Amino acid sequence: MDISQIELKNVPCIEFDCTCGRTHKSGIKHISVGSGSIQSLPFYLKDFKNVFIVSDNNTYEVCGKNVISVLEEQGYSVSQCTLFSKGFLVPDEKALGSILVEIPSDTDILIGTGSGTINDLCRMISYKCHIPYIIVATAPSMDGYASSVSSLIVKESKQTFETVFPYAIIADTDVLKDAPLNMLQAGFGDIMGKVTALADWRLSHRINDEYYCDTSVALVNRAMQKCIDNLYGIVKRSPDAIKALIEALIISGVAMGFVGNSRPASGAEHHLAHYWETDALSKGQEHNLHGISVGVGTVVISRLYNFVNNFKPIGLEIPDSKYVEYMLARAGVPVSPLEIGITKSVFHRSLLKAMEIRPRFTILRYAAQIGILEEIASSITSFYYK
Ligand SMILES: [Zn+2]
Ligand SMILES: [Zn+2]
Repeated sequence: MDISQIELKNVPCIEFDCTCGRTHKSGIKHISVGSGSIQSLPFYLKDFKNVFIVSDNNTYEVCGKNVISVLEEQGYSVSQCTLFSKGFLVPDEKALGSILVEIPSDTDILIGTGSGTINDLCRMISYKCHIPYIIVATAPSMDGYASSVSSLIVKESKQTFETVFPYAIIADTDVLKDAPLNMLQAGFGDIMGKVTALADWRLSHRINDEYYCDTSVALVNRAMQKCIDNLYGIVKRSPDAIKALIEALIISGVAMGFVGNSRPASGAEHHLAHYWETDALSKGQEHNLHGISVGVGTVVISRLYNFVNNFKPIGLEIPDSKYVEYMLARAGVPVSPLEIGITKSVFHRSLLKAMEIRPRFTILRYAAQIGILEEIASSITSFYYK
């Protein structure tokens, strides 16, 4: 069986010996993607009695109350908490504390209705309280649904915690298609980020002999291609395009689970996005949605690959910055750091410093290693900030 061709619904509980020499498995028990999939929730709750639902004031309206009525109709004892925020809900100690205050001590299972923030919060609570959690996705905006990492703001800085996989992921395309347009665009930005993430992995495999898994790469590439094939449908909210997008985002998380780290999904483009986000946070400013920053980071890093390759041929297939930019622009996703409010000095500094965010080998580290990072950072900065 060619695992890279596997259908998403067959991924849960899979375990196989891969050509990369490792045994891969998925830690997620159930994945349900499709129109009306919220109705399938009771099926996944057969082993549980007391359900606790976490939403925020937006996701409660678009999904949480529907989930509650589906479960109450089936006779479940449901309690819930709705986290209120005026703008974006921040996944910090206060939000975690609010959930802990509300959660009944006899809760058997936690259900989060939301996207990145609610997922990160519920995953942490699930891990600390030893209660499984289900995420009912409300937006195809990022690829964290199927991962086991929780990104939280702790002591005012963004930190990642290794926690648990969700017990189940429910992605109802009837809900997802109505998500705010910038969240759909962010999801596509996060997917296009795989172009440079996978290039960085190939590069490190070649240069450092880092472990590499062809199957995981093929899985992510196939899902990304399906999204690109449906590109025009994303802004039109066509069910097929929304399904391709959420499937790609989930597959990307599954690939991370197979490999045991975020290599298949995250490289220098994510480090740039992370740098910009942290910088905004430190100044008390609102930052862009993760996938929007990643989209811009992908264009910048693709361009950086071209600069490096012109200086010294890399000898590998490198990302095509024009292609990446064209695809993102077609979906209305920003493609330049100016469009997302990054100042010239922050941009220049991010090119020099983003590689220090993680000890991961990327094109930024490679450029530093061959002694051209400063020159390239200046060239790319003056390309954008004329
Ligand atoms: Zn991402
Ligand atoms: Zn493998």
